[in-house]
Amino acid sequence: MSGPVGEPDLEDSSEPSTRAVGDGVLLLESRATDVRGLPVRRGLPTRGRRTVGPWCFVDHAGPLLLDSDRRPDIGPHPHIGLHTVTWMLEGEMLHRDSLGSEQLVRPGELNVMTAGAGVAHSEEATSPDRRMIQLLQLWVAQPDSTRRGAAAFEHHSQLPRLELTGGEATVFIGTLAAVTSPARSESALVGADLSLRQGATCLPLERGFEHGLLVTEGAVRLGNTVATPGTLAYLLPGRDEIDLQVTERARAILVGGAPFAEELFMWWNFVARSRAEVELAYADWRDDTGRFGQVLSPLKRIEAPPPHWLGRP
Ligand code: MN
Repeated sequence: MSGPVGEPDLEDSSEPSTRAVGDGVLLLESRATDVRGLPVRRGLPTRGRRTVGPWCFVDHAGPLLLDSDRRPDIGPHPHIGLHTVTWMLEGEMLHRDSLGSEQLVRPGELNVMTAGAGVAHSEEATSPDRRMIQLLQLWVAQPDSTRRGAAAFEHHSQLPRLELTGGEATVFIGTLAAVTSPARSESALVGADLSLRQGATCLPLERGFEHGLLVTEGAVRLGNTVATPGTLAYLLPGRDEIDLQVTERARAILVGGAPFAEELFMWWNFVARSRAEVELAYADWRDDTGRFGQVLSPLKRIEAPPPHWLGRP
């Protein structure tokens, strides 16, 4: 379930999207949208914040009860300059890409696709009718030093866990408290799924990172701030830990990394640095020049909308 990123995610507005500020915690409202019938809460990018470390796209999709009329299949579409990080909470998806990969991903497993200079993929909701689907679709921006490189795909069925005082974490990418995922990463970062019991948890953090906590179930108190689904709690760099208080069980995704120093230019499914790069990627997909390869998928290819700045005076 990828993207796309459009104007509502990025346009400047005087409308505040920050609901609470305290103790270095900013509660940012996610934007409600929908990707092919699947309800989505978009935590990044929003008007309030574009990136958390190298994380540049955070969609919490679902839960949705699948039936024959509601099946959020995403046909072949291209990417550049990013890793897609797919983490299922419920249900399963079938990934196919232009490298020839074909891989189911289920809860507890991870798919990471590296786009580099260009790749295409499709995502098919393969769970039977009357099953729930819920997932995190995340993008990590590739640094300038690697973003023109070759495309790649990885699947990980075993991921390391970390015991916490009031729960546990699955570290699906990067490092949390010296526990490191085997998944590919090109910058210092963390992506972890936290399962929290009633009570307090002291969550260790990397001092040089900024972090975002996306609650997917229940409610989590961070100091004076209560984060619930539909918000992204943003934590400024400079913390070694944060106390999380939970009154019932809760689940949350932690993303973080060193603040990304490069200025990104994102449009649709492309993470670039300039309009010119996006225009070229758009034209290469439209004209099927071979840059993105072919995906062997029964789904219909998704056409790119023309970049909004083309055709404007
Ligand atoms: Mn995608």
